[in-house]
Amino acid sequence: MSGTVAFFGLGNMGLGMAANLAAKGYAVRAFDLSEAALEKAEAAGCHAVPAAPDALEGAEMAITMLPAGSHVAAVWRETLFDRAAPGSLLIDCSTIDVATARELGAEAAARGFDAVDAPVSGGVAAAAAGTLTFMVGGSDAAFARARPVLAAMGKAVIHAGGSGAGQAAKTANNMLLAATMVATAEAFLLAQKLGLDPQRFYDIASVSSGQSWSMTSYCPLPGVGPESPADRGYEGGFASALMLKDLRLAMEAAQAVGASTPMGARAAELYEAFAADPARARLDVSAIIHALEGAAP
Ligand code: NAD
Repeated sequence: MSGTVAFFGLGNMGLGMAANLAAKGYAVRAFDLSEAALEKAEAAGCHAVPAAPDALEGAEMAITMLPAGSHVAAVWRETLFDRAAPGSLLIDCSTIDVATARELGAEAAARGFDAVDAPVSGGVAAAAAGTLTFMVGGSDAAFARARPVLAAMGKAVIHAGGSGAGQAAKTANNMLLAATMVATAEAFLLAQKLGLDPQRFYDIASVSSGQSWSMTSYCPLPGVGPESPADRGYEGGFASALMLKDLRLAMEAAQAVGASTPMGARAAELYEAFAADPARARLDVSAIIHALEGAAP
């Protein structure tokens, strides 16, 4: 399966994703505001273009991988809606607020486009390796059309539901990750203060009811469990600044629908304080354990 894809946003994530599409035989017309990003995209087998509308030449689908909802709305409304070929498939893979995703989905459908929100789970390494998980919101027809191109960049493509459902799944999942990470970190600290050896506590909790991905894949204590960011000085994982961005989106979504999220709200406060320090903001989410060590409850 191949075709011509207009790709907007060749940053940390988008570059690897676009490179995978090019490697799988897609013609990728790449646009980014950054000259350096365009050069990297060209080197990765894409055709870098000097202006946003140029990316759409001959393309039957467009993908955006941009920082936030405002950037996505600008590119969709100012470029895609006017310049994309009639009936094109529009895919946003960025992590943005559910409300903007739904608005853009509705506006795209009204203009005769197939559109999906398809945020990803997995970081820069998964984007480069083509092993992302996509959670997709949109009609059955739009999902069926988007699946092959998403599969070329990932290991799993899951239809979450109608427009905005991909972002809803992403926001709920990441709020859960934040809360379980904080809870895992405080459980290890409690166990330690009660005199338990951390590895012994891991051996027990990882096969007991306290088990979670935060414990068995990203254990916040170095030297405990399988290799994790904690073993690399909390480098190379999921940056706390990005976790904070996702938590703010989750809190916004919860407020909009009146959902009670006391654990998510507390996690958001803790990451808000932790990521206020730029040196900590770049560390993996599991580094939150440092904020709990010595911090009064
Ligand atoms: P990034 O900042 O590295 O890349 C964004 C790129 O978009 C930049 O190169 C920027 O120049 C470009 N850009 C901004 N406005 C543009 C415009 N109008 N037209 C064209 N290009 C434009 O960000 P990233 O880490 O690649 O993340 C992208 C999205 O993926 C975000 O929404 C993020 O939350 C999400 N995400 C990131 C990760 C991660 O680990 N980095 C993981 C999952 C999801």
